Amino acid sequence: MAETIRDTVILGSGCAGLTAAIYAARANLKPLVLEGHEPGGQLSITTLVENFPGWPEGIQGPQLIENIKLQASRFGAEFQMGHLASADLSKHPFALRVGAETIHTRTLIIASGASARWLGLPSEQALIGHGVSSCATCDGFFFSGKEIAVIGGGDSAMEEALFLTRFATKVTLLHRRDQFRASHIMLERAMAHPQIVFRTNTVVEEVLGVEDKEVKGARLRDTVTGEEEILPISGFFLGIGHEPNARMFAGQIDLDDDGYIKTTDYVFTRVPGVFACGDVQDRRYRQAITAAGTGCMAALEVEKYLEERGR
Ligand code: NAP
Repeated sequence: MAETIRDTVILGSGCAGLTAAIYAARANLKPLVLEGHEPGGQLSITTLVENFPGWPEGIQGPQLIENIKLQASRFGAEFQMGHLASADLSKHPFALRVGAETIHTRTLIIASGASARWLGLPSEQALIGHGVSSCATCDGFFFSGKEIAVIGGGDSAMEEALFLTRFATKVTLLHRRDQFRASHIMLERAMAHPQIVFRTNTVVEEVLGVEDKEVKGARLRDTVTGEEEILPISGFFLGIGHEPNARMFAGQIDLDDDGYIKTTDYVFTRVPGVFACGDVQDRRYRQAITAAGTGCMAALEVEKYLEERGR
């Protein structure tokens, strides 16, 4: 049986991947979208998106993703669950291992996004799913009537803290410095909220409760005075940013020191036919709309690349 070679495979089903899928599908390239281990990407675990153009009242992240997916499906994009085990980009067509299957493709769009970052404390890792979480929208519900902490000083931490006030009676926001990366509007909202208490210049030494398999508190250290203190909490939420999901391509395409894919002219990697878009290559803007923008660019470049080679 003749081996099927796809025109394009899109790795990732967040805003970048799905926008690439719309454009590639409308160009009749029948893209295959590998959905990855977090289908829908970060938007699928966020709440109200207020800054995506076209929704003056805002739109829920999962709904926005669902809409874009429907739009891509309408033009013939195909979707497959599962994530990439390995990729061989050294020869054309590229070979992608997904489970027991090998998929061959002339072009690849990497839109694998970024995943939540952890502090890396053994106690934190031991309590993931037992009170430690990186997803307020997924797990907030379990903390109704309880006191919790959120770690971080960026927009993610502010958003999580604000969202968690729906459930928790008190949210302590712990930040390692006294300067914030969060946008002015988000910081102001969080600071003005009566259920949110800010603790700056504070680091977490240990999450307590490993023996009981549930979070009981956190051991904090003041970075100015060096004093330690126990904060009694039932939930511990990380809001400290994300890691790009590009490690599996190390050695085949260029990554920067933090693991982001290095691109030129927005979406070109150093391997002809391999393009990258969205949070996996954007360490600067990291917005849904910029991810959609580079997703569009990647698909247009795929089309051009294939056209130039007679496809
Ligand atoms: P971020 O802006 O990089 O902020 C990460 C925060 O976590 C920083 O305050 C950082 O502290 C802290 N942090 C990192 N590693 C830490 C560690 N090991 N221990 C303690 N603290 C640590 O990431 P983000 O908040 O996820 O935002 C990323 C992008 O998405 C931004 O462009 C943001 O605007 C956007 N975003 C927007 C919205 C919205 O508009 N609704 C919501 C979420 C995210 P330092 O400051 O000390 O480095």
